Amino acid sequence: MKQTLKLLAALFVAVACQNTEKQASYIVQVSLGDWNQPDYTAQSVVSRIDSVANLIPVEKVIIGWSLDKDIYKEVGTYLHSKDIKMLLWLPVFAETEAVCDNQPAVDLWGNVPANYDLTAGEGFRFNCPTKPENLENVLGIYDRLFADCGFDGVFMDRVRSQSFVSGVSGVLSCGCPSCRERFLQEGVDLEVVKAEWDACGDEFLSVSGYTPEEGFTFTNATAADFFKAKGHIVSGSVASLCDSLHARGLEVGLDLYAPFMAPFVGQDYSILTAHADFIKPMLYRKTFAPAGMGFEYDLLKKAAPGAQGYPTFEMDVDFLESQLKAMEPYACGKFPGVEINYRAEIAPTSPEYVTESLQAIMSHGFDGAVLSWNIMEAPVPHIECLRP
Ligand SMILES: [Zn+2]
Repeated sequence: MKQTLKLLAALFVAVACQNTEKQASYIVQVSLGDWNQPDYTAQSVVSRIDSVANLIPVEKVIIGWSLDKDIYKEVGTYLHSKDIKMLLWLPVFAETEAVCDNQPAVDLWGNVPANYDLTAGEGFRFNCPTKPENLENVLGIYDRLFADCGFDGVFMDRVRSQSFVSGVSGVLSCGCPSCRERFLQEGVDLEVVKAEWDACGDEFLSVSGYTPEEGFTFTNATAADFFKAKGHIVSGSVASLCDSLHARGLEVGLDLYAPFMAPFVGQDYSILTAHADFIKPMLYRKTFAPAGMGFEYDLLKKAAPGAQGYPTFEMDVDFLESQLKAMEPYACGKFPGVEINYRAEIAPTSPEYVTESLQAIMSHGFDGAVLSWNIMEAPVPHIECLRP
């Protein structure tokens, strides 16, 4: 009898595990460089994806954003023969100067926030998130330059404002006349925000607490109203782009900041997840460059050293768990971004790190992960370790 009970208990556990731990599926990114000639040939992309797909189940490939159409046509033919979707990697509010004229975003003082150059060639000027011309330009890029390449969808990158990489001024944006009007509609007068910042300095950004579900609680009511309105405004524009792309029959994915930093850059998860097919929060714990969670958080503290109440976050697996928990309420596809590329100085990743991150993701019942940021240069052991 005891034996039978033991056997039944073991069977129950096995079934329960099967239900919670579904198999991860993967989205990989192919960075072709900027708008110029692609960094790789179609043949080399196809051969790399083929070898990766032999190791792990690849569901979609995000590729961009060279203007060379032939590479997408050739890669797309291969991907579709393998039942893998091809999504265009499209920058939205930055890095489009080469293909269209946009109104830049300005801070509350009317200045364009300073650029941040991580390495030569990586300057980020952000564009105003509300100017109708800027939004039309984004759709125009797809329609004019990519509509006949065979894409199944679009993965929108830079769907945000500048972060603390340009100091506080980048975050206190956009202050152009069009955005001032939108903030007023949300009940926020940017002149009041500016006066409050002038009066309080860094303490404008002070917080009284943090929970994964609610994020930071700002002590200054004007700051709280500003970031709430900013989320509605920036994410509202992104939502309208999602809808326009859906109307073209395209699937839409979004590149997002981790939940705890998202409010600073105007990413309101409630709005965005209601309009996208899937989200990729960049839960990078080992990236010491923009979008790395610890890196961005340190920039906040450096930009406003007088801001009070920000706890210390170790970039350990518990912190990853807290961000995954914050994503749980949202209904769209959830593919957190895990960095698998390796650079000794700015991304000291390892197979152990990749495996640990994936296990945490799947323990929340999510769909899988986006392997970031360029599968063409990812070390093979960082992929092999994910083999089911
Ligand atoms: Zn604006």
